[in-house]
Amino acid sequence: MELEKKPIREFVGKVIRIIDETPSTKTLVFDIKGIDFDFYPGQYVMLNVPYEGEILKRAYSIASPPTQKDSLELTIKRVPNGKASVVLTERVKVGDEFLIKGPYGKFIWVPQMGTNLILIGAGSGIVPLMCILRYIASAKLEHVKATLLYSNTHYEEIIYREELEQLNTLSNIRIVHTLTRSHPPNWKGYTGRINHEMILREVENIPTNLYYLCGPPQFVDDIANILTDLGVDKGQIKKEKYD
Ligand SMILES: Cc1cc2nc3c(=O)[nH]c(=O)nc-3n(C[C@H](O)[C@H](O)[C@H](O)COP(=O)(O)OP(=O)(O)OC[C@H]3O[C@@H](n4cnc5c(N)ncnc54)[C@H](O)[C@@H]3O)c2cc1C
Repeated sequence: MELEKKPIREFVGKVIRIIDETPSTKTLVFDIKGIDFDFYPGQYVMLNVPYEGEILKRAYSIASPPTQKDSLELTIKRVPNGKASVVLTERVKVGDEFLIKGPYGKFIWVPQMGTNLILIGAGSGIVPLMCILRYIASAKLEHVKATLLYSNTHYEEIIYREELEQLNTLSNIRIVHTLTRSHPPNWKGYTGRINHEMILREVENIPTNLYYLCGPPQFVDDIANILTDLGVDKGQIKKEKYD
């Protein structure tokens, strides 16, 4: 399906709010009032991040839905020994300004593509999937059914945990968690990596859905292999790798 491209804009966004998501993850909310910026759910922007006299350019998926017009949200997870991600999670203050350019990317979902969605993410790979879920909820797309399979190492690292609980109460959205390294004593989700059995138990009519996978490259490749083993056509699988 050929989609009309959204025009690429370059603009300065001022940080108006910083949300602590997890011990290693923050959401920066940028004021974009008056800026004619539009995007498809799943796309990303390039952010210029000043770092020790240089400007680093880094890709960040858009977390807020396109229905939210006055502000833009990016969620950044600090990576070990990272440069930009450390600046963005530890040094940024309300009032700081950043050059933002976009939107970019073909990891896009619009309702015309299909209405049975399986979103599979790990860690910060939730971000474009959350944009899709927020879009489904805010645009009241009740004919769309979405299941999120979300993998994290630890309970404390689940990004958007409370909002995901709220989304899970909607009749057309289902959230399934797995924790791979530790879990609280009363944990009701899965433990261990997403595997064939988990997908067989959680996903109905496996070959007929549209799949959106996002996370580290190895995670995305592993899940894509599981899905093709289970009979999903490659054309039904969209991938975004955070390398
Ligand atoms: C299309 C796209 C969208 C992205 N969206 C997001 C997003 O929404 N949120 C987000 O937090 N990140 C996202 N990323 C990753 C982001 O662009 C940066 O790569 C990340 O913030 C690390 O940058 P850095 O300067 O801190 O690390 P660098 O200084 O570039 O790297 C430092 C070290 O960390 C390793 N490393 C780099 N990235 C990762 C990673 N993701 N996981 C583990 N180790 C890593 C490197 O191999 C290196 O050893 C996205 C990437 C792409 C390509």
